[in-house]
Amino acid sequence: MISKAAVREIKNIVGQTNVLEKEAELLTYAYDNSFHQHKPDLVVLPSKEEEVSAIVKLANEAEVPLVPRGAGTGQTAGSVPLKGGIVLSTTRMDGYIEVDKENLIAKVPVGVVNWDLQKEVEKAGLFFPPDPSSLKTATIGGNLAENAGGPRGFKYGVTRDYALGMNVVTPAGKVLKLGGQTIKNVTAYDLCRLVIGSEGTLGVITQANLRLIPQPEERRTLMAIYKDIERAGDAVSGIIAKGIVPAAIELIDDVAIRCIEETLKLGLPTDADAILLIEIDGFKVAVDYQMEQVEQVCKSYGADRISVARNEKESEQLWVARRAFAPAVLKLNPTKVGEDATVPRSRLTEFIKGVKKIAGKYQLELALCGHAGDGNMHPNFMVNARDKDEMKRLQKAVDELFALTLDLGGTLSGEHGIGSTKAQYLNKELNQDTIDAMQAIKDAWDPKGFMNPMKIFPRDTKTLSFLG
Ligand SMILES: Cc1cc2nc3c(=O)[nH]c(=O)nc-3n(C[C@H](O)[C@H](O)[C@H](O)COP(=O)(O)OP(=O)(O)OC[C@H]3O[C@@H](n4cnc5c(N)ncnc54)[C@H](O)[C@@H]3O)c2cc1C
Repeated sequence: MISKAAVREIKNIVGQTNVLEKEAELLTYAYDNSFHQHKPDLVVLPSKEEEVSAIVKLANEAEVPLVPRGAGTGQTAGSVPLKGGIVLSTTRMDGYIEVDKENLIAKVPVGVVNWDLQKEVEKAGLFFPPDPSSLKTATIGGNLAENAGGPRGFKYGVTRDYALGMNVVTPAGKVLKLGGQTIKNVTAYDLCRLVIGSEGTLGVITQANLRLIPQPEERRTLMAIYKDIERAGDAVSGIIAKGIVPAAIELIDDVAIRCIEETLKLGLPTDADAILLIEIDGFKVAVDYQMEQVEQVCKSYGADRISVARNEKESEQLWVARRAFAPAVLKLNPTKVGEDATVPRSRLTEFIKGVKKIAGKYQLELALCGHAGDGNMHPNFMVNARDKDEMKRLQKAVDELFALTLDLGGTLSGEHGIGSTKAQYLNKELNQDTIDAMQAIKDAWDPKGFMNPMKIFPRDTKTLSFLG
């Protein structure tokens, strides 16, 4: 519990209107996009780094849990305050984006939404590639804390690859200035990379220097339609083996195609077992050449039809379809349990086959999509959280899903992080010495364990099952 005196002090720091304490307001911060939930005792919306530092110091002294939160689109309950306490929302830290054209850098406050950054740098002819499908909502702080990826990860990498420097408020309330604003920087330990992907367990990121690149001259998208999803999986390996590097290779299965089409009426092929969306970008001549090669490979792996977007508008429509996956599949059942298991790309077809078998065994509705070019698939089990029997079957299915993933040489998370939903599986992938080394870092930075507790480490979450 937070004392009345502490609440008064917090109001003095950020102003009365930026502290939320009414039941209904608190409830809206009890969720993210997973199905773990817990109400905070207080929500605080600072707009400046000094305010963040003062609130963190106060929470530390009072030993009250503090959970950093961006837009709350996380998939693994990272921003859910499982022990109550303070949710520190960064959404008001969305001020001026400084675009430095000479050095190809953007200096960004962390509450800025990814899409707004993309649009701002485009005005200067520049490009910020990380594009999680939640990009119209998720914040840059959340992207850094989760090391978010997206369709373009195949060619351009993930958020980590664009972070040159950042400011981080540690659990002690100190402001660290990590990395810098140069492309090369090997001065001492790389704490910037330590904090990226640490899911708000090591501090609050307040500001970031992000690397930009020039806009590609041309972008084109192709849709390859398959009657057999396994052939689509094989085609992905075929494209990679041929040495072609599209910006994105995304796969959507039959269940999802039908849901998206029913929702948006875009003219998607509802008779297909799977579609691949492939984007090629770069100089026009190179795009023309690579498009031809990709078409050939897709056909050689049995594509039923191939359609090429004729212009930017048609291309964007295909990406709208892909981004609509999450809301569209909710028509199947009210609870969406979206995983992001990642396997070596050559094992993709085995993975798809295996996941479908697991869903069938436990009689669960499955919708599949993913960043196939990265081997990063999102099997979504569509269930009803109120159906106890179904939830028991779900737990077994998810156990088997991760056993399959690890057997194929994969990893528990390609981009959504561990949070609390996957903490129980951590020791299946990492040995105890590795977990201990990570835990020692957490303990050194946050000896009281008040910064985003019950996340990542099995020690803190052993009472939690996958279901929360
Ligand atoms: C429809 C949909 C599609 C998605 N697609 C993708 C995708 O393609 N790729 C992908 O990687 N993810 C995807 N996600 C997951 C999610 O959007 C990303 O993880 C995103 O980066 C989270 O940003 P956020 O601002 O919503 O963070 P939140 O959900 O608020 O927080 C996520 C984590 O980051 C921490 N955090 C947030 N801000 C800070 C900060 N300033 N300092 C320290 N810690 C912080 C929180 O404590 C929490 O642990 C998707 C989610 C949805 C709902």
